[in-house]
Amino acid sequence: MADPLVKLEKLKKNFPLGRSFFGRTGYNVRAVDDFSLEIFPGESFGLVGESGSGKSTIGRCILNLLSPSAGRIEFAGKTIFDSEKGIHLSYKEMLPLRRDMQVIFQDPTASLDPRMNIGNIVMEGLKKHRIVERGEVEKTAGDYLELCGISRDLSRRRPGEFSGGQKQRIGIARALALRPRFIVADEPLSALDVSVQSQILNLMSSLKKQFNLTFLFISHDLRTVEYFCDRIGVLYLGSLVELGSTDDIINSPLHPYTQVLFSSVPQDMPGPRPVRTQLRGEIPSAINIPPGCKFHTRCPYSKDLCSRSIPVSEKAGEGHFVACHRWRELLWEKAGDNAAADI
Ligand code: ADP
Ligand code: MG
Repeated sequence: MADPLVKLEKLKKNFPLGRSFFGRTGYNVRAVDDFSLEIFPGESFGLVGESGSGKSTIGRCILNLLSPSAGRIEFAGKTIFDSEKGIHLSYKEMLPLRRDMQVIFQDPTASLDPRMNIGNIVMEGLKKHRIVERGEVEKTAGDYLELCGISRDLSRRRPGEFSGGQKQRIGIARALALRPRFIVADEPLSALDVSVQSQILNLMSSLKKQFNLTFLFISHDLRTVEYFCDRIGVLYLGSLVELGSTDDIINSPLHPYTQVLFSSVPQDMPGPRPVRTQLRGEIPSAINIPPGCKFHTRCPYSKDLCSRSIPVSEKAGEGHFVACHRWRELLWEKAGDNAAADI
């Protein structure tokens, strides 16, 4: 198997809080908690989980936009961050890597400078990273805009003159013009009208194939993830609860949380779906994470053990991992129910 392009080992990110609501100090938001993952060249890895589960924080740590609290991050074989060895690349040291890792943001309006024309927005990175000869910069920027469905004749217009979908196309052209290897797409569709979401998704799919891009695709829209991603990781309060191929996660989810998440996806797709289970309450605060299995306070199958002991990630199949004390038992129970229903 190829070496991973991105490797995360026991990544932690805490946000210290000066003073809690009750006036106590020294509190941490444990946004990312011992998170390990490898993303391989050419794959689209989907990271899903409720709002506040730490998805954006992971993306921003990889891009070095946030400084992790502990762990290790490697990109293309180069260590970006290693808390044990005291390695943390500076802005300048990151520059050559930064070209290789780009980001598509959720809100295209906020991510494009309203005072610049869109030609200059795409040209900025081409100049900074000296991607092409000076004389070629304008033409190249136009080429990338057109590849993303925006006519080069509109290069002198500013972002404010474009629709949300068009702005996202401009953001994609800006990222793509640097010929990156890796793209973090953080909820790239959620600020767009439903009518244009599929167009942008199709654009990203075709660019992915054309340029052999590797994606970390962050989303809470599970149908989009199902369409776009090869593998999926399910995040709960900063930790992976399940990891597997898209087929594993959609058709044979093992963790009760995954089952709940994906059972809420509308059932108009072919294939079997998990039985709908109920989720109790809201996601706990990342300041006050439950002991044992973090999910036990909401899990319909929780037992005493779950509140006492942290489940380790166990291999459930080829490339399929689950962190739940009871996954085997529950699978047997379900198999028993199905057999009973067949009689
Ligand atoms: P997601 O992208 O899955 O919605 P985030 O990564 O944005 O989640 O946030 C994870 C947790 O970290 C949340 O509890 C959030 O409130 C907290 N958080 C994120 N950024 C900050 C910050 N700059 N300061 C304090 N807490 C933060
Ligand atoms: Mg987010």
